[in-house]
Amino acid sequence: MSSRPAERVVVVGFGPVAARFIDVLEPSLASGDVQLTVIGSEPEAAYNRVLVADVGVGRTSPSAIALSDPARLASMGAEVLLGAGVRRIDRARQQILLDDGTVRPYDRLVLATGARPVIPYLAGLNPDPLHPALPAGVTALRDLADARALRSVVERRGDLVILGGGILGLEAALAAAEEGARVTVVHHGDYPLARTIDDGGGRVLASALRSQGVRLVSGAKAVGLEHDDAGAFTALRLDDGRLVSGDLLVLSCGVRPRVELAEGAGLPVASGILVDHSLRAHHDEYIYAIGDCAEVRCTFPDCADCQGDTAPSGLIGPGWKQAEWLAESFVADVVPTGSRYVEAVLPPVLMLKARRLDAVVAGDASADPWAAHDDGTAVALWADPQQGSYAKMVTRNGVLQGLVCVGLPRAGAELVLLFESGAVLPADRSSLLRLDGAEGAASSSSSSNPAAIVCRCAGVSRGSIEQAAVVGCSSVAEVSASTRAGTGCGGCHSDIRSIIEQHFQPTPA
Ligand SMILES: Cc1cc2nc3c(=O)[nH]c(=O)nc-3n(C[C@H](O)[C@H](O)[C@H](O)COP(=O)(O)OP(=O)(O)OC[C@H]3O[C@@H](n4cnc5c(N)ncnc54)[C@H](O)[C@@H]3O)c2cc1C
Repeated sequence: MSSRPAERVVVVGFGPVAARFIDVLEPSLASGDVQLTVIGSEPEAAYNRVLVADVGVGRTSPSAIALSDPARLASMGAEVLLGAGVRRIDRARQQILLDDGTVRPYDRLVLATGARPVIPYLAGLNPDPLHPALPAGVTALRDLADARALRSVVERRGDLVILGGGILGLEAALAAAEEGARVTVVHHGDYPLARTIDDGGGRVLASALRSQGVRLVSGAKAVGLEHDDAGAFTALRLDDGRLVSGDLLVLSCGVRPRVELAEGAGLPVASGILVDHSLRAHHDEYIYAIGDCAEVRCTFPDCADCQGDTAPSGLIGPGWKQAEWLAESFVADVVPTGSRYVEAVLPPVLMLKARRLDAVVAGDASADPWAAHDDGTAVALWADPQQGSYAKMVTRNGVLQGLVCVGLPRAGAELVLLFESGAVLPADRSSLLRLDGAEGAASSSSSSNPAAIVCRCAGVSRGSIEQAAVVGCSSVAEVSASTRAGTGCGGCHSDIRSIIEQHFQPTPA
């Protein structure tokens, strides 16, 4: 321990991003250089929120997705307050005020307040966005309490109504239907993912969802709830008078960063809390923000590193990177002059994670395949609606600009790698579709690139996983423990497994 007094670091919010920050800060905690207080409004310590729906359908348990051990932190001298809310930041006195009226002083304050579900305006729902008191039989899909509500219906194979045709709603719908629940998805567009997918892909996706037992009510505008005498949800009312009945309504209408604490303290916010390249709040050198609540906006207009404003993505990967960078800079005590957090902005890729349905959408795939393009744009299209497969590749001068792939998992994975690397597609685009044929995997080329990102949540490359196998990791769990690959959504577990298998394959004599 150094001779100077311990620095008081207070973390508000105890979600997965705060947990990663605290993990990396541990050496300073152990040495006594830092005195840590973490305050989370949920009754549980941090858990992997990405897997909340999996808990809800009974595929995993709360203990299996725990990310932090409060008893261990307490044994290291940290103060861990669970089920406790921070009401106000007093910047002048450098202290925070808790809901119970007590205060905690800070030298550095880290806001990791995350995001909250958007509660739509529906007759019969409390519209207060900060303190939504949802009626019985209505839940969002954000925390373990929501997972318990989902579990109680899935367990008895009841009726679920999911409002929202975005990726999280669809993943929950598919998982619940696979586990035996009767599921109806109610959404605005002509098909789910309507804001991102093209027409052909959307139609194939819709029919694939139906064939997985998910009922779709498309082009629908929900206006209110019906309830029984006890006030519990019985049906969703649409603007044309139709009722969609169920035992549980799951609201899956997007999320909004939780910025009210920062806003109340006079800190600048946009869609998230504005922070600079040191992840410091604008105009306050003692306050930082990371994760779903943070928006990185450079304060230097001519900054060479700056990739522009990075509004909260609602994805765990950037939050974990921010948490690691910030904690490392705290451990090092100073942010070295010129050192900046620069977000490696991956192009947006939307992947549907389900056991029996694969879909991926990336970039801009809206180009008309039949139009004449004079800017080098070409569109290749494949559709087999009966088999539930569809692929659209939009290239400019041979380089992928956008793609849609449904029901072709290997082609989809390969196209994502090609899209991210900016590589030129083979002239014969149909060779990519053959990856999903019998001997397809062997002909994959860019998937052997060591720089290719395998785990998007933790940002781990194929090369790092191969290296872990070289030093002896022989299971997904061991690779995860060594590299953090596979610790987020888990969608890359089969890729990690196949890299390990390739490494341990006996070489022919
Ligand atoms: C069902 C589901 C599936 C998802 N799937 C994926 C996926 O496949 N891939 C992906 O990248 N991301 C996914 N996400 C998003 C991912 O979970 C989030 O990006 C991640 O949780 C962000 O972590 P965070 O710690 O910044 O915020 P959060 O997880 O929101 O945690 C913030 C915590 O702070 C607490 N808090 C807020 N304000 C206060 C206060 N004033 N006082 C005390 N505590 C406070 C909150 O209660 C919460 O516990 C998914 C999310 C959900 C819900």
